[in-house]
Amino acid sequence: MKNQDLITIAQEFGSPVYVYDADKILSQYDRLTAAFSKVKTLRINYAVKANSNISILKLLRTRGAGLDTVSIQEVQLGLKAGFEPREILYTPNGVSLEEIEEVADLGVQINIDNLSILEQFGTKHPKVPVCIRINPHILAGGNSKISVGHVDSKFGVSIHQIPHLLRIVENTGMNINGIHMHTGSDILDIEVFLRASEILFDAAKNFKDLEFIDFGSGFKVPYTPGDIETDIEELGEKLTRRFTDFCEDYGRELTLLFEPGKFLVSEAGKFLVRVNVIKQTTSTVFAGVDSGFNHLIRPMFYGSHHDIHNISNPEGKQRFYSVVGYICETDTFAQNRRISEITEGDILAFSNAGAYSFSMSSNFNSRYRPAEVLWHNGKAHLIRERETFEDLIKHQVILDFDRVEA
Ligand SMILES: *Cc1c(COP(=O)(O)O)cnc(C)c1O
Repeated sequence: MKNQDLITIAQEFGSPVYVYDADKILSQYDRLTAAFSKVKTLRINYAVKANSNISILKLLRTRGAGLDTVSIQEVQLGLKAGFEPREILYTPNGVSLEEIEEVADLGVQINIDNLSILEQFGTKHPKVPVCIRINPHILAGGNSKISVGHVDSKFGVSIHQIPHLLRIVENTGMNINGIHMHTGSDILDIEVFLRASEILFDAAKNFKDLEFIDFGSGFKVPYTPGDIETDIEELGEKLTRRFTDFCEDYGRELTLLFEPGKFLVSEAGKFLVRVNVIKQTTSTVFAGVDSGFNHLIRPMFYGSHHDIHNISNPEGKQRFYSVVGYICETDTFAQNRRISEITEGDILAFSNAGAYSFSMSSNFNSRYRPAEVLWHNGKAHLIRERETFEDLIKHQVILDFDRVEA
Protein backbone atom coordinates (compact mmCIF):
# COMPACT_ATOMS: atom_id res chain seq x y z
CA MET A 1 0.00 0.00 0.00
CA LYS A 2 1.55 3.27 -1.09
CA ASN A 3 0.97 6.57 0.67
CA GLN A 4 -1.20 7.71 -2.21
CA ASP A 5 -3.38 4.60 -1.90
CA LEU A 6 -3.86 5.32 1.78
CA ILE A 7 -4.75 8.97 1.14
CA THR A 8 -7.29 7.86 -1.44
CA ILE A 9 -8.78 5.38 1.06
CA ALA A 10 -9.06 8.12 3.71
CA GLN A 11 -10.82 10.34 1.18
CA GLU A 12 -13.13 7.64 -0.07
CA PHE A 13 -14.07 6.03 3.24
CA GLY A 14 -13.49 8.96 5.59
CA SER A 15 -11.33 9.05 8.69
CA PRO A 16 -10.52 7.54 11.05
CA VAL A 17 -10.25 4.25 9.20
CA TYR A 18 -8.41 0.97 9.62
CA VAL A 19 -6.73 -0.45 6.50
CA TYR A 20 -5.30 -3.97 6.26
CA ASP A 21 -2.95 -5.25 3.59
CA ALA A 22 -4.05 -8.76 2.60
CA ASP A 23 -0.68 -9.54 0.99
CA LYS A 24 1.15 -8.83 4.23
CA ILE A 25 -1.16 -11.10 6.22
CA LEU A 26 -0.69 -13.93 3.74
CA SER A 27 3.07 -13.47 3.49
CA GLN A 28 3.36 -13.68 7.29
CA TYR A 29 1.33 -16.88 7.17
CA ASP A 30 3.61 -18.25 4.45
CA ARG A 31 6.70 -17.25 6.39
CA LEU A 32 5.57 -19.21 9.43
CA THR A 33 4.63 -22.30 7.43
CA ALA A 34 7.96 -22.13 5.57
CA ALA A 35 9.88 -21.99 8.86
CA PHE A 36 8.16 -25.23 9.91
CA SER A 37 8.02 -26.87 6.50
CA LYS A 38 9.87 -29.94 7.76
CA VAL A 39 7.13 -30.75 10.28
CA LYS A 40 4.89 -33.48 8.82
CA THR A 41 1.62 -32.00 9.98
CA LEU A 42 1.62 -28.36 10.92
CA ARG A 43 -1.47 -26.36 11.72
CA ILE A 44 -1.69 -22.61 12.15
CA ASN A 45 -4.73 -21.48 14.09
CA TYR A 46 -5.20 -17.75 13.77
CA ALA A 47 -6.04 -16.11 17.13
CA VAL A 48 -9.32 -14.42 16.34
CA LYS A 49 -9.17 -11.93 19.19
CA ALA A 50 -6.35 -10.02 17.44
CA ASN A 51 -8.69 -8.99 14.64
CA SER A 52 -12.05 -10.64 14.33
CA ASN A 53 -13.32 -9.16 11.09
CA ILE A 54 -14.99 -12.00 9.18
CA SER A 55 -13.28 -11.05 5.92
CA ILE A 56 -9.88 -11.39 7.63
CA LEU A 57 -10.92 -14.83 8.87
CA LYS A 58 -12.04 -15.81 5.37
CA LEU A 59 -8.79 -14.51 3.90
CA LEU A 60 -6.75 -16.72 6.22
CA ARG A 61 -9.01 -19.65 5.46
CA THR A 62 -7.99 -19.42 1.79
CA ARG A 63 -4.49 -20.39 2.98
CA GLY A 64 -5.69 -23.32 5.08
CA ALA A 65 -5.51 -21.67 8.49
CA GLY A 66 -7.63 -22.82 11.41
CA LEU A 67 -8.81 -20.62 14.26
CA ASP A 68 -7.98 -20.14 17.90
CA THR A 69 -10.92 -18.72 19.81
CA VAL A 70 -11.48 -17.57 23.39
CA SER A 71 -15.26 -17.10 23.46
CA ILE A 72 -18.30 -18.80 22.00
CA GLN A 73 -18.93 -15.63 20.03
CA GLU A 74 -15.53 -15.96 18.33
CA VAL A 75 -16.45 -19.57 17.53
CA GLN A 76 -19.67 -18.32 15.94
CA LEU A 77 -17.74 -15.75 13.90
CA GLY A 78 -15.47 -18.55 12.69
CA LEU A 79 -18.42 -20.72 11.67
CA LYS A 80 -19.95 -17.72 9.91
CA ALA A 81 -16.66 -17.29 8.02
CA GLY A 82 -17.00 -20.86 6.74
CA PHE A 83 -14.65 -22.75 9.04
CA GLU A 84 -15.56 -26.31 9.95
CA PRO A 85 -16.00 -26.86 13.70
CA ARG A 86 -13.03 -29.23 13.68
CA GLU A 87 -10.83 -26.42 12.32
CA ILE A 88 -11.47 -24.37 15.44
CA LEU A 89 -9.82 -24.61 18.84
CA TYR A 90 -11.55 -23.02 21.81
CA THR A 91 -9.23 -21.85 24.60
CA PRO A 92 -11.30 -19.99 27.16
CA ASN A 93 -10.27 -18.79 30.58
CA GLY A 94 -12.69 -18.44 33.44
CA VAL A 95 -15.83 -19.15 31.41
CA SER A 96 -18.77 -21.22 32.60
CA LEU A 97 -19.10 -24.98 32.18
CA GLU A 98 -22.30 -24.25 30.21
CA GLU A 99 -20.43 -22.24 27.60
CA ILE A 100 -17.78 -24.93 27.25
CA GLU A 101 -20.48 -27.57 26.80
CA GLU A 102 -22.22 -25.45 24.21
CA VAL A 103 -19.00 -25.09 22.21
CA ALA A 104 -18.21 -28.81 22.51
CA ASP A 105 -21.72 -29.53 21.21
CA LEU A 106 -20.85 -27.62 18.06
CA GLY A 107 -18.04 -30.09 17.42
CA VAL A 108 -15.27 -27.61 18.21
CA GLN A 109 -12.09 -28.85 19.90
CA ILE A 110 -12.06 -27.58 23.46
CA ASN A 111 -9.04 -26.69 25.51
CA ILE A 112 -9.55 -26.66 29.28
CA ASP A 113 -7.36 -24.60 31.57
CA ASN A 114 -8.39 -25.54 35.09
CA LEU A 115 -8.94 -28.72 37.07
CA SER A 116 -12.37 -27.83 38.42
CA ILE A 117 -13.93 -27.56 34.95
CA LEU A 118 -11.88 -30.53 33.74
CA GLU A 119 -13.34 -32.74 36.43
CA GLN A 120 -16.90 -31.54 35.85
CA PHE A 121 -16.64 -31.77 32.07
CA GLY A 122 -14.90 -35.15 32.13
CA THR A 123 -17.51 -36.57 34.48
CA LYS A 124 -20.40 -35.49 32.27
CA HIS A 125 -18.81 -36.02 28.84
CA PRO A 126 -16.04 -38.60 29.14
CA LYS A 127 -16.15 -39.34 25.40
CA VAL A 128 -15.46 -35.79 24.19
CA PRO A 129 -11.74 -35.39 23.49
CA VAL A 130 -10.20 -32.52 25.37
CA CYS A 131 -6.97 -30.54 25.11
CA ILE A 132 -5.32 -29.33 28.31
CA ARG A 133 -3.70 -25.94 28.69
CA ILE A 134 -0.56 -26.31 30.75
CA ASN A 135 1.14 -23.42 32.49
CA PRO A 136 4.88 -24.16 32.35
CA HIS A 137 5.69 -21.17 34.60
CA ILE A 138 8.23 -19.82 32.21
CA LEU A 139 8.25 -16.09 31.97
CA ALA A 140 7.74 -14.76 28.50
CA GLY A 141 6.20 -11.58 27.31
CA GLY A 142 7.25 -7.98 27.16
CA ASN A 143 4.54 -6.56 29.36
CA SER A 144 2.96 -7.76 32.61
CA LYS A 145 -0.52 -7.44 31.08
CA ILE A 146 0.32 -9.85 28.26
CA SER A 147 2.68 -12.19 30.07
CA VAL A 148 0.59 -15.16 31.03
CA GLY A 149 2.97 -18.01 31.80
CA HIS A 150 4.34 -16.90 35.15
CA VAL A 151 3.57 -18.44 38.51
CA ASP A 152 0.95 -15.87 39.52
CA SER A 153 -0.84 -16.15 36.23
CA LYS A 154 -4.50 -17.18 36.11
CA PHE A 155 -3.92 -19.16 32.91
CA GLY A 156 -3.51 -22.86 32.47
CA VAL A 157 -3.11 -25.85 34.74
CA SER A 158 0.10 -25.51 36.67
CA ILE A 159 2.80 -27.96 35.68
CA HIS A 160 3.00 -28.82 39.38
CA GLN A 161 -0.59 -30.07 39.28
CA ILE A 162 0.07 -32.81 36.74
CA PRO A 163 -0.47 -35.58 39.34
CA HIS A 164 -3.91 -34.22 40.20
CA LEU A 165 -4.66 -33.73 36.51
CA LEU A 166 -3.77 -37.37 35.80
CA ARG A 167 -5.97 -38.54 38.62
CA ILE A 168 -8.96 -36.66 37.18
CA VAL A 169 -8.29 -38.11 33.74
CA GLU A 170 -8.08 -41.61 35.17
CA ASN A 171 -11.14 -41.26 37.37
CA THR A 172 -13.34 -39.88 34.60
CA GLY A 173 -11.91 -42.02 31.80
CA MET A 174 -11.75 -38.97 29.58
CA ASN A 175 -9.67 -38.71 26.44
CA ILE A 176 -6.91 -36.10 26.32
CA ASN A 177 -6.04 -35.58 22.66
CA GLY A 178 -4.00 -32.41 22.87
CA ILE A 179 -1.71 -30.47 25.12
CA HIS A 180 -1.22 -26.75 24.93
CA MET A 181 0.71 -23.80 26.27
CA HIS A 182 0.57 -20.10 25.56
CA THR A 183 3.11 -18.24 27.59
CA GLY A 184 2.29 -14.71 26.53
CA SER A 185 3.12 -12.16 23.95
CA ASP A 186 6.40 -10.73 22.74
CA ILE A 187 8.83 -13.65 22.94
CA LEU A 188 12.28 -12.21 22.59
CA ASP A 189 14.35 -15.17 23.65
CA ILE A 190 13.93 -18.39 21.69
CA GLU A 191 15.83 -20.34 24.33
CA VAL A 192 13.19 -19.41 26.90
CA PHE A 193 10.49 -20.60 24.53
CA LEU A 194 12.34 -23.85 23.93
CA ARG A 195 12.70 -24.39 27.67
CA ALA A 196 8.95 -24.00 28.06
CA SER A 197 8.53 -26.47 25.19
CA GLU A 198 10.65 -29.04 27.02
CA ILE A 199 8.33 -28.76 29.99
CA LEU A 200 5.40 -29.30 27.67
CA PHE A 201 7.04 -32.37 26.12
CA ASP A 202 7.59 -33.78 29.60
CA ALA A 203 3.95 -33.24 30.43
CA ALA A 204 2.88 -34.74 27.10
CA LYS A 205 4.54 -38.07 27.90
CA ASN A 206 1.82 -38.67 30.50
CA PHE A 207 -0.91 -38.94 27.90
CA LYS A 208 -1.20 -41.92 25.58
CA ASP A 209 -3.68 -40.66 23.01
CA LEU A 210 -2.38 -37.29 21.96
CA GLU A 211 -3.06 -36.05 18.45
CA PHE A 212 -1.46 -32.63 18.70
CA ILE A 213 0.77 -30.36 20.71
CA ASP A 214 -0.08 -26.67 20.61
CA PHE A 215 2.77 -24.27 21.36
CA GLY A 216 0.56 -21.20 21.50
CA SER A 217 2.00 -17.99 20.24
CA GLY A 218 3.55 -14.79 21.45
CA PHE A 219 5.77 -14.07 18.49
CA LYS A 220 7.09 -10.55 18.70
CA VAL A 221 6.77 -8.34 15.67
CA PRO A 222 8.89 -5.25 14.91
CA TYR A 223 7.36 -1.88 15.81
CA THR A 224 10.00 0.26 14.10
CA PRO A 225 12.36 -0.49 11.23
CA GLY A 226 15.17 -2.61 12.69
CA ASP A 227 13.29 -3.41 15.91
CA ILE A 228 13.91 -6.84 17.43
CA GLU A 229 11.46 -9.57 16.51
CA THR A 230 11.12 -13.27 17.22
CA ASP A 231 13.46 -15.13 14.89
CA ILE A 232 10.83 -17.43 13.40
CA GLU A 233 13.29 -19.18 11.12
CA GLU A 234 15.63 -20.08 13.98
CA LEU A 235 12.70 -21.17 16.11
CA GLY A 236 11.45 -23.27 13.19
CA GLU A 237 14.74 -25.03 12.84
CA LYS A 238 15.23 -25.74 16.54
CA LEU A 239 11.70 -26.64 17.50
CA THR A 240 11.20 -28.82 14.42
CA ARG A 241 14.19 -30.90 15.42
CA ARG A 242 12.96 -31.27 18.99
CA PHE A 243 9.41 -31.98 17.92
CA THR A 244 10.48 -34.65 15.44
CA ASP A 245 12.58 -36.35 18.10
CA PHE A 246 9.72 -36.21 20.53
CA CYS A 247 7.29 -37.79 18.07
CA GLU A 248 9.77 -40.58 17.44
CA ASP A 249 10.01 -41.30 21.18
CA TYR A 250 6.28 -40.97 21.58
CA GLY A 251 5.74 -43.47 18.81
CA ARG A 252 3.34 -41.42 16.70
CA GLU A 253 3.31 -38.45 14.34
CA LEU A 254 1.60 -35.62 16.14
CA THR A 255 0.33 -32.36 14.69
CA LEU A 256 2.30 -29.28 15.66
CA LEU A 257 0.08 -26.32 16.29
CA PHE A 258 0.64 -22.60 16.63
CA GLU A 259 -1.93 -19.92 17.26
CA PRO A 260 -0.50 -16.57 16.27
CA GLY A 261 -2.53 -13.39 16.28
CA LYS A 262 -0.20 -10.44 16.28
CA PHE A 263 2.38 -12.12 14.05
CA LEU A 264 -0.15 -12.55 11.26
CA VAL A 265 -2.01 -9.27 11.31
CA SER A 266 -0.18 -6.57 13.32
CA GLU A 267 2.10 -5.20 10.63
CA ALA A 268 -0.56 -5.50 7.94
CA GLY A 269 -2.66 -2.80 9.57
CA LYS A 270 -2.55 0.98 9.24
CA PHE A 271 -4.78 3.29 11.18
CA LEU A 272 -5.49 6.54 9.35
CA VAL A 273 -6.51 9.63 11.29
CA ARG A 274 -6.92 13.26 10.34
CA VAL A 275 -5.29 16.08 12.26
CA ASN A 276 -7.99 18.42 13.55
CA VAL A 277 -5.83 20.89 15.39
CA ILE A 278 -2.23 21.89 15.99
CA LYS A 279 -1.89 23.33 19.46
CA GLN A 280 1.26 24.98 20.73
CA THR A 281 1.67 25.11 24.46
CA THR A 282 4.54 26.47 26.49
CA SER A 283 6.31 23.12 26.38
CA THR A 284 5.18 21.13 23.36
CA VAL A 285 3.31 21.04 20.09
CA PHE A 286 0.23 18.85 20.12
CA ALA A 287 -1.28 17.33 17.02
CA GLY A 288 -4.88 16.58 17.96
CA VAL A 289 -6.46 13.93 15.76
CA ASP A 290 -10.01 12.77 15.01
CA SER A 291 -9.67 9.62 17.12
CA GLY A 292 -8.59 8.52 20.56
CA PHE A 293 -8.06 5.55 22.83
CA ASN A 294 -11.63 4.58 22.08
CA HIS A 295 -10.33 3.44 18.68
CA LEU A 296 -6.76 2.45 19.50
CA ILE A 297 -6.13 1.75 23.16
CA ARG A 298 -2.74 0.04 22.92
CA PRO A 299 -0.55 3.09 23.62
CA MET A 300 -2.55 4.04 26.74
CA PHE A 301 -3.18 0.47 27.92
CA TYR A 302 0.10 -1.26 27.19
CA GLY A 303 2.43 1.65 26.51
CA SER A 304 2.73 0.28 22.98
CA HIS A 305 4.68 2.06 20.33
CA HIS A 306 3.07 2.77 16.96
CA ASP A 307 5.16 4.48 14.31
CA ILE A 308 3.32 7.52 12.97
CA HIS A 309 3.87 8.95 9.48
CA ASN A 310 2.40 12.10 8.02
CA ILE A 311 1.38 10.64 4.68
CA SER A 312 0.03 14.01 3.50
CA ASN A 313 3.52 15.51 3.71
CA PRO A 314 5.98 12.59 3.74
CA GLU A 315 8.96 14.64 2.59
CA GLY A 316 8.35 17.56 4.96
CA LYS A 317 10.77 18.96 7.49
CA GLN A 318 11.01 16.75 10.60
CA ARG A 319 9.55 18.37 13.72
CA PHE A 320 8.57 17.20 17.19
CA TYR A 321 4.94 16.55 18.08
CA SER A 322 2.88 14.92 20.75
CA VAL A 323 0.05 13.16 18.96
CA VAL A 324 -3.09 13.10 21.08
CA GLY A 325 -6.69 11.97 20.71
CA TYR A 326 -9.96 13.78 21.27
CA ILE A 327 -11.10 11.79 24.31
CA CYS A 328 -11.78 13.82 27.45
CA GLU A 329 -9.13 12.06 29.49
CA THR A 330 -5.40 11.83 28.99
CA ASP A 331 -5.25 10.29 25.57
CA THR A 332 -1.73 10.21 24.21
CA PHE A 333 -0.80 8.21 21.15
CA ALA A 334 2.81 9.39 21.01
CA GLN A 335 4.94 11.82 22.93
CA ASN A 336 7.64 14.04 21.53
CA ARG A 337 7.78 12.20 18.22
CA ARG A 338 9.71 13.31 15.17
CA ILE A 339 7.17 13.54 12.34
CA SER A 340 7.33 15.42 9.06
CA GLU A 341 5.72 18.81 9.44
CA ILE A 342 1.99 18.62 10.10
CA THR A 343 -0.67 21.01 8.83
CA GLU A 344 -4.23 20.82 10.10
CA GLY A 345 -6.14 18.45 7.81
CA ASP A 346 -3.18 16.15 7.17
CA ILE A 347 -3.64 12.40 7.34
CA LEU A 348 -1.41 10.47 9.76
CA ALA A 349 -0.85 6.74 9.37
CA PHE A 350 -0.23 4.63 12.49
CA SER A 351 1.72 1.41 11.92
CA ASN A 352 1.13 -2.00 13.54
CA ALA A 353 -2.59 -1.35 13.67
CA GLY A 354 -3.77 -4.76 12.50
CA ALA A 355 -3.79 -6.58 15.84
CA TYR A 356 -5.58 -5.68 19.10
CA SER A 357 -6.57 -2.38 17.57
CA PHE A 358 -10.05 -2.36 16.08
CA SER A 359 -10.89 -5.46 18.12
CA MET A 360 -10.30 -3.51 21.34
CA SER A 361 -12.15 -0.38 20.23
CA SER A 362 -15.15 1.03 22.06
CA ASN A 363 -17.77 3.75 21.88
CA PHE A 364 -16.32 5.77 24.76
CA ASN A 365 -17.30 9.45 24.45
CA SER A 366 -20.16 8.14 22.29
CA ARG A 367 -18.00 8.09 19.19
CA TYR A 368 -18.61 5.72 16.32
CA ARG A 369 -16.21 2.88 15.78
CA PRO A 370 -14.34 3.41 12.50
CA ALA A 371 -14.67 1.65 9.17
CA GLU A 372 -12.30 -1.15 8.16
CA VAL A 373 -10.90 -1.61 4.68
CA LEU A 374 -9.03 -4.56 3.19
CA TRP A 375 -6.46 -3.79 0.51
CA HIS A 376 -6.50 -6.83 -1.72
CA ASN A 377 -4.99 -7.23 -5.20
CA GLY A 378 -4.45 -3.50 -5.56
CA LYS A 379 -8.00 -2.59 -4.61
CA ALA A 380 -9.66 -1.24 -1.48
CA HIS A 381 -12.63 -3.25 -0.17
CA LEU A 382 -14.82 -1.99 2.63
CA ILE A 383 -15.09 -4.81 5.20
CA ARG A 384 -16.88 -2.91 7.96
CA GLU A 385 -18.92 0.24 7.74
CA ARG A 386 -18.36 3.10 10.12
CA GLU A 387 -20.99 3.05 12.82
CA THR A 388 -23.88 5.46 12.83
CA PHE A 389 -26.01 7.13 15.47
CA GLU A 390 -28.48 4.26 15.10
CA ASP A 391 -25.78 1.82 16.24
CA LEU A 392 -25.07 3.93 19.32
CA ILE A 393 -28.66 3.84 20.56
CA LYS A 394 -29.64 0.46 19.14
CA HIS A 395 -29.89 -1.35 22.47
CA GLN A 396 -30.83 1.52 24.70
CA VAL A 397 -34.25 1.32 26.23
CA ILE A 398 -35.42 4.90 26.39
CA LEU A 399 -37.84 5.67 29.17
CA ASP A 400 -40.55 8.23 28.71
CA PHE A 401 -40.83 9.94 32.10
CA ASP A 402 -44.12 11.54 31.22
CA ARG A 403 -45.57 8.04 31.11
CA VAL A 404 -43.55 6.18 33.72
CA GLU A 405 -45.62 5.95 36.84
CA ALA A 406 -44.15 7.36 39.99
C1 LIG B 1 -4.15 -14.09 22.61
C2 LIG B 1 -3.83 -15.49 22.42
C3 LIG B 1 -3.02 -15.89 21.33
C4 LIG B 1 -2.41 -14.93 20.36
O1 LIG B 1 -1.34 -14.21 20.88
P1 LIG B 1 -0.47 -13.23 19.96
O2 LIG B 1 0.53 -12.63 20.85
O3 LIG B 1 -1.41 -12.24 19.36
O4 LIG B 1 0.12 -14.07 18.88
C5 LIG B 1 -2.80 -17.25 21.19
N1 LIG B 1 -3.32 -18.14 22.04
C6 LIG B 1 -4.10 -17.79 23.09
C7 LIG B 1 -4.64 -18.84 23.99
C8 LIG B 1 -4.36 -16.46 23.31
O5 LIG B 1 -5.12 -16.11 24.36
